[in-house]
Amino acid sequence: MARYISALMVGLLAFSTAAAAESPKVVIRWHGQSFFEVISSQGTRIVFDPQNLEEFGQITVPADLVLISHLHSDHNAVGVIANRDQARIISGLKMAGKKVEWNPVDEKFRDVHVRSVGVYHDDVQGAERGKNTIFIVDVDGLHIVHLGDLGHLLSEEQVKEIGPVDVLMIPVGGVYTINGSEAKQVVEQLKPRLDILPMHYGTRNFDALLPVDEFLEDQKNVQRLPNTNELVIDSGAKPAQPAIVVLNWRKGAAGGAGEGK
Ligand SMILES: [Zn+2]
Repeated sequence: MARYISALMVGLLAFSTAAAAESPKVVIRWHGQSFFEVISSQGTRIVFDPQNLEEFGQITVPADLVLISHLHSDHNAVGVIANRDQARIISGLKMAGKKVEWNPVDEKFRDVHVRSVGVYHDDVQGAERGKNTIFIVDVDGLHIVHLGDLGHLLSEEQVKEIGPVDVLMIPVGGVYTINGSEAKQVVEQLKPRLDILPMHYGTRNFDALLPVDEFLEDQKNVQRLPNTNELVIDSGAKPAQPAIVVLNWRKGAAGGAGEGK
């Protein structure tokens, strides 16, 4: 009997190990403002909207693929990419004569597929702050969506174009983008499946934007991770509801969630 049970246990263990090995992990790190690093299970390093604001410590990271949502200095600071001469840098906007136009992206890069959807940086069709890009990155079976400096609620058409969302990076700090309550509505529109990562908001060290609070108010599944800027996503996870994950902007710093001193 004992032998039978231990054989069963070994069988169960082997089964669970095999199941775990089947779903690849994706690592996401936040570096303040809208600057994220995403690392695929095969090691491809994708950077979104690099910034070099003094308040966030001006860090340098290596990257294989760099995605720029628009041409403002807190989103296109490619100088912080350590190996920028080797990296593939894609801007969602381009100059067409004197006008800035969307630069539609739909391409494969190693184990990553990138698409773009053109939107605006304000709620008056770009008249105040111009155009902005949403990037949709498919990696390890996950649809990771970064909204850049989105300034308005999405149209039905745009929601369709974006498609299914597993992980959403969304601005919530108002002033130059949608604010916390508008961001809640955009989350409702996109219905992300796994994780929602607020970005582009005011922190203790950087107060040019509103804090994350309005976005978190009355939300159910908020996970504050004040001691890390890193989230590891199991691509095989099937949670009943998505989590709103508030990262710190640097690793190991004490302080309130997302507020590193
Ligand atoms: Zn901007």
